[in-house]
Parts: sequence; structure tokens; C-alpha cells
Amino acid sequence: MSLHGSDRRDTSSSGGNGTVAAANLRLRLNPNKEHRPDGYEDMQLDFSPNIFSSLERYLPPSMLNVSRDDKAKFMREILLKYLPVGERSRSQKHREYRQKIIDNYQPLHRELYYVNPATFFVPSFRRAINDNTEQSFRSIMSEPSPGIFVFDIFQTDFCELLLSEIENFEKWVTETKFRIMRPNTMNKYGAVLDDFGLEKMLDKLMEGFIRPLSRVLFAEVGGATLDSHHGFVVEYGKDRDVDLGFHVDDSEVTLNVCLGKQFSGGELFFRGIRCEKHVNTGTHSEEIFDYSHVPGRAVLHRGRHRHGARATTSGNRVNLLLWCRSSVFREMKRYQKDFSSWCGECSREKKERQRSTIAATKLELFRREGESTA
Ligand SMILES: [Zn+2]
Repeated sequence: MSLHGSDRRDTSSSGGNGTVAAANLRLRLNPNKEHRPDGYEDMQLDFSPNIFSSLERYLPPSMLNVSRDDKAKFMREILLKYLPVGERSRSQKHREYRQKIIDNYQPLHRELYYVNPATFFVPSFRRAINDNTEQSFRSIMSEPSPGIFVFDIFQTDFCELLLSEIENFEKWVTETKFRIMRPNTMNKYGAVLDDFGLEKMLDKLMEGFIRPLSRVLFAEVGGATLDSHHGFVVEYGKDRDVDLGFHVDDSEVTLNVCLGKQFSGGELFFRGIRCEKHVNTGTHSEEIFDYSHVPGRAVLHRGRHRHGARATTSGNRVNLLLWCRSSVFREMKRYQKDFSSWCGECSREKKERQRSTIAATKLELFRREGESTA
């Protein structure tokens, strides 16, 4: 057994506040293969729990009998010093990234950071949400193609304020040379609003305003249980992204609102709702729908509604996207195969199965009738 260094405990640095000091404790050079490490899955740690379990075999013998918390603390200090940044769990890195922005970025319009229905929304939208009935929702929206709902949502002043806040982020990013993460793999421009301090506001927007609509309009994809979101803006036009390929969103329900400004082109094209298995199947003529953006106006659709954006041919277009997700729906989906309540292709397959069953039954009846009259 090789012991690297001494396992002597320095009482002056290990007592007192109950922390285990790393000063005079060194890791073993070779792992103790007989030792059964603890599990760390249930702890809030900034590195993968497996790393802690593996590293535990290298702990100095005197440390093997201390509490799991103390072991974790000791190992964390080591990991923070030596593990490449890339090994850290993504969520911790993202927390740090977000904190760095929030600590340094000065918001321009603080009134945007809390939902204020009176200044955010147009009166018709506020009334419909207050009434909270399917009839009130339907009265303010059109459904130009099945599953695509269009309605006025934001006041012009709110759109302008949000646009100027976004310009302010961009200015700050350029000036400080801060390397920001873009909203998704498809957009080179745009910003994640959640990273700039708007997470709480967008959460309230989802809970108080989008979930009530989704509960009624998209019940079969977890509309009533939306519990997390990804909120971002995309920017199209000259010196920005041009268009956006055909895709589905990583959401159950997507809210897409045009904020402005002056532009032409940039139409959204929709091509039917599909489950994972059917995402690349062909489009049927009744599924084809194109939509032209109007500032302040929202399009609400299922995340699995296949779509893309045509080129913005002149001017600049900025859209707010809120991808709303339901963890309950995602968990349930793992045990299901038939999504005929929302997938266009599953639904067609199911109808086809029913048709052939009926046809087979009819054939059987004819045959029996033939036999009995013969
Ligand atoms: Zn399907």
C-alpha cells in the first residue's frame, strides 16, 4: 500500500468550525481498491457525483471514516483546483455564468423586470385572462390553421422598452467583450433573456398568462402543467441571422411574439405537428400554413409543430420566444408510443388501423352472410 505523504492530522486546522482542512492531508498515489465509496447522487454538488465516488478511493486513510459531508467538502476543494473547467457540471457553470452577468450588467428599464399587466398587455388580452374561460380566450384569438393561435398581446410601449433593453445588453456585451451564449444552436445572434435577469418576469408570464391558455388549448401536451421555460430573443436582418431552418422546438408550448421593428419578409412557415418518431415524415396539404409577423402580436403553438422562418429581406426583426416545458408531460411521454392526440402522423396511422379493422370485420360479415344464404 503506498501512502503519499503523511496522514497525520493537524489539529489546529481541522477543528474549530468543524471543517476539514486540506493543508496536511494528501491523497494516496494509488486507489484503495478494497474501499467501498459513498454515493453522492443526492447531494447538491458542482461536480458529477461519480467523480466524488471515484476520488474517495484516493482519500488518505484517516479521512475514510469522517462524515460524507466532510469528505465531499475536502474533495471539492481539490477538484476546484485541478479539474478542467469542462468537467464541471453544466448547471453549475451556467449558474456562475448567469451570476457574472447579473453582477455586472446594469438594466436600463427596471420596470421590465416585474410583470405589470397594465403596462405590458393590451386590454383585450388582460380581460380574456381575467375571465379565464375557453370562450374568453377564443374571443381574442384566431386559429388560422389547426393548433396555431394568433392574438394581440403586448402594448407598443412595452415592445419598445424591451427592444431598447435588448439593445442595451448588446451594447454592454460589445463594450465589455463578454462572451455570451446564444439562445440555441440555430441562432448566431440574439440573447437569452433569462441570463440577463428576466427569468422571474418570464416565469410569471408563463404561470399567470400562458399556462391558463395552454391548459385549455394544449391540454394533451401538458399545457396545464407547464413548469419551466427558456426565454430568449432572436434578431434577423442585415448583420443578423437571415432565416431559420425547418425544426421543432424543445418545448411543449411556444410563445412567439414579434417586438418590431420595421422589416419585410421573415414569415413563419408551419408544416404539421409530429412526435419524435415521425418528425421527418412528409407534409400533407392541409398542414401547410404561412404566417406574417405583426409587432405586438403573438403566435402560440405546440413545440412539436414543425416550422421555420423565411429570410428577413429588409430591415430588422426582433422576436421574443418563450419555450414552455412540462416536466410531468416529459416523464409520462417516456412510457407512451401512441401520440395520436397530437401527432398528425400517429393520428393518420391510428385512423388507418381502424379503417382496416372495420373493413376486415365487414368482409367477415359478408362472408358469413354468403355462407348462410348458400
Ligand atoms: Zn407520431
